[in-house]
Amino acid sequence: MTFATLGLIEPLLRALETLGYQTPTPVQAQAIPAVLAGRDLMAAAQTGTGKTAGFAVPLLQLLTMEGPKVAANSARALILCPTRELAEQVHASVAEYAQNLPLTTYAVYGGVSINPQMMKLRKGVDILVATPGRLIDLFRQNALKLNQLQTLVLDEADRMLDLGFSEELANIYRMLPKKRQTLLFSATFSDEIRLLAGQMLNDPLTIEVSPRNVAANTVKQWVVPVDKKRKAELFVHLMRKGRWKQVLVFAKTRNGVDALVDKLQGLGINADGIHGDKPQATRQRALDRFKSSDVQILVATDVAARGLDIEDLPLVVNFDLPIVAEDYIHRIGRTGRAGNTGEAISLVCADEVNMLSAIEMLTRQTLARHMEQDFEPEHRVPDTDASGQVVKKPKKPKKPKSSGGGGKRNLGKWVDSGEVAPAEPSIKPVRKVPVFNTGPRKKK
Ligand code: AMP
Repeated sequence: MTFATLGLIEPLLRALETLGYQTPTPVQAQAIPAVLAGRDLMAAAQTGTGKTAGFAVPLLQLLTMEGPKVAANSARALILCPTRELAEQVHASVAEYAQNLPLTTYAVYGGVSINPQMMKLRKGVDILVATPGRLIDLFRQNALKLNQLQTLVLDEADRMLDLGFSEELANIYRMLPKKRQTLLFSATFSDEIRLLAGQMLNDPLTIEVSPRNVAANTVKQWVVPVDKKRKAELFVHLMRKGRWKQVLVFAKTRNGVDALVDKLQGLGINADGIHGDKPQATRQRALDRFKSSDVQILVATDVAARGLDIEDLPLVVNFDLPIVAEDYIHRIGRTGRAGNTGEAISLVCADEVNMLSAIEMLTRQTLARHMEQDFEPEHRVPDTDASGQVVKKPKKPKKPKSSGGGGKRNLGKWVDSGEVAPAEPSIKPVRKVPVFNTGPRKKK
């Protein structure tokens, strides 16, 4: 199959050829004809599958072939993204695909001044990429009207809900014309996503290009058990031992990111950090420098987990496991993209065993464990597997203290060799759902 057989027009074929895209990826093969035919879409596509071109390329064709010229302060298509980085990245891809077309594109997001955005919107833009909060601000300040909107794309819809944008999405929904095309892309389909799809989509075509909730099989994954207080030391050890050149590291909190970056920089290691407290320009600069290999180690919170496309990234390290199990899939999806192979290593301490179990259950695999010599944990990480069971070894029965003398009465139970150990459950009750996925989190 070629892009030409999918019915794309010549300026788009030329742009794809310039970018070196030869054959459509599976999501593109399914999405492009459906979008061109005007269908609504509900697509489950992992990151790195080429989904951006899957929606953007046919969208550009529709905007070129159909509909009136864009009016002042209007947009003909809106692509909603969860984070500023993703909005920038999606916009950059859209602009590349549109390079031979007479269409205008623009990205708006928070964390930067709204005034230049308002100025830019005056003439109207054909495709607007936006984060939900800033879009609503622009709408409320009359800088943007949505009555000309032909198509709405919800990119990384599950992430938008995780970040607490469900209210914003409901508000945006009310601003939209009833007659429109809606394309929903989500790496994973939770019940909440299906509910959202039920409200926003009209007889959608469902596309599922990879098994639901399964992590990319191009990524070799394993776990190194370690005590919490020795994680940074282990990271530096593994980095030196493996001669790591470019690593994206995920930490749980903003403070955790800063502490690790400080520690690495203190050791003369070329590291930088990204998290929600940093100004947008600083975040983008750190990301650009990492992409161009000027920074060796980029430490991030989950703000960087989704959608970011870093060419040939060989390694992702989970310094901390994510609280939401699905974020694990997104984090490791930063490597092993576009057919490359990658590695994902998780440093796991005893406290994180339930998160590990939730990840294994979600990805339906038991992650291999490698014990690193001299870093064997004092606090053992209980065994886990894809069934969601956390197996704690039964405690060794203690010998009673000598009964001679006064002192406290000894309540211990002596177990003779050959006697069956006291009935102590060795397996914790199994939870049926990933334990940490308990609905939307607070907005960052
Ligand atoms: P995405 O999943 O949209 O973030 O795309 C992942 C990467 O694959 C990006 O670097 C795209 O430029 C690249 N890509 C998308 N479609 C194709 C294709 N048909 N052939 C080659 N590379 C592609």
